[in-house]
Amino acid sequence: MTPGRVIVVGSGIVGASCAYELALRGWSVELIDRAAFGAGCSHGNCGYICPSHVYPLARPGAIAATLPLMFRPNSPFKVRIRPDLSLLAWFAKFSRCCDARKAEETSIALHALLVAAKVRYEEIMALEKIDCDYEARGCLFISMHEAHMSAFEADNRRMIDRFGYGARRLNGAELARMEPTLRDGLGGAWMFDCDSHLRSDRFMSGMKAVLTRRGVVIRENCEARALEGSGERAATLATSRGPLRADAFVFATGAWTPLLSELIGIRLPIVPGKGYSVTARRPAHCPAYPMVFDEHRVAITPFGTGYRIGSTMEFAGYDERLRPERIALLKDSAALYLRHSEPLADEEPWWGWRPMVPDGRPFIDFVPRFKNVMVAAGHSMIGMSTGPATGQLVAEMLGGEEPHLEPGWFRVGR
Ligand SMILES: Cc1cc2nc3c(=O)[nH]c(=O)nc-3n(C[C@H](O)[C@H](O)[C@H](O)COP(=O)(O)OP(=O)(O)OC[C@H]3O[C@@H](n4cnc5c(N)ncnc54)[C@H](O)[C@@H]3O)c2cc1C
Repeated sequence: MTPGRVIVVGSGIVGASCAYELALRGWSVELIDRAAFGAGCSHGNCGYICPSHVYPLARPGAIAATLPLMFRPNSPFKVRIRPDLSLLAWFAKFSRCCDARKAEETSIALHALLVAAKVRYEEIMALEKIDCDYEARGCLFISMHEAHMSAFEADNRRMIDRFGYGARRLNGAELARMEPTLRDGLGGAWMFDCDSHLRSDRFMSGMKAVLTRRGVVIRENCEARALEGSGERAATLATSRGPLRADAFVFATGAWTPLLSELIGIRLPIVPGKGYSVTARRPAHCPAYPMVFDEHRVAITPFGTGYRIGSTMEFAGYDERLRPERIALLKDSAALYLRHSEPLADEEPWWGWRPMVPDGRPFIDFVPRFKNVMVAAGHSMIGMSTGPATGQLVAEMLGGEEPHLEPGWFRVGR
């Protein structure tokens, strides 16, 4: 398709990246969002840009490892039981994906997407000079008990053999020397030198300014409600602020995508996986490295301009409540690993819905109903890390260019 007028729905990292890549290729882009720009899941996440995360959640043994967590009080993983057929169907699909061959296929697709996105981030940072605390420092995956670390040994070896990178193993003493803000006596860590991090809310506001400078029209508080067209082509998007006509449409609506099934003509297996974070002023003893506390599944990101603790996973449907006990859980879990217990200052608590897909691979494809409508959603736990490459793939597919990644990996009908 030759560049014309395109409407991108959803202004998270995925929609913003699509808008950016399309604008660079000469499309006239309008980006709409039902709320404020970048205020969905892309706002308060941990900001890891992490090629380390090549393995999906759905893997052999995942169910057995996760089930006991569901019943533990104060667990970072929660399913709020309620009659919800889509969640049951999602878990049934998830359990079918816990298969070694499928997980291996997914890791190949995710690796390609993650590495391409990291390269694109570096190009964007050099070109657009977005002020977002971007740093390539690596990331520590810390174990409280040394025995816990062995679980990753075989995966790490496989990762190095297949993808050419992996983690360095640090024992407790090496870890203590590297990150003196940690408590004594921790088991050790896997250090992924390949990872970077940024402050997602700052990156998103930087992107908003870049997009505006590049001619993208941004409409906030504008909800997509219906899509009309004739034959195989959509022509008009009905929105809460009136109809918008275009030659092409991209739905980058994250966890909300199933709510738009009627518009796009396909129901994708995406459910909201709610996570929390709390952002504060940098503490006096601020860690130097981003780090994940593996047994408690909590992550810390130190920024030049602040400090964030995040994580937890709650399958609670479209529940918009901010639960203070989940924020307390983040802080209490982090405190188990840190030497200094300083109260946080200027706290900003936050929650977001990860767009969770059973096999861990996003959907980046045309929808079956229309030849000029694409969906780019389902980036699960690594959307911040993979958004820029998704934007490139969408722009390539819409413009009929040779794609830089294998589109078959991300088909809606897989
Ligand atoms: C606690 C936490 C920590 C995380 N940490 C990381 C991390 O360190 N690294 C990483 O890579 N990922 C991380 N993630 C995951 C990452 O945040 C998500 O995968 C990513 O933000 C998804 O981006 P998105 O653009 O698809 O969705 P979103 O950012 O949610 O954007 C979707 C947008 O669509 C809009 N929308 C929905 N429906 C409509 C409609 N009808 N009309 C108009 N607009 C609509 C919404 O308002 C929203 O703005 C984390 C997530 C959480 C919760």
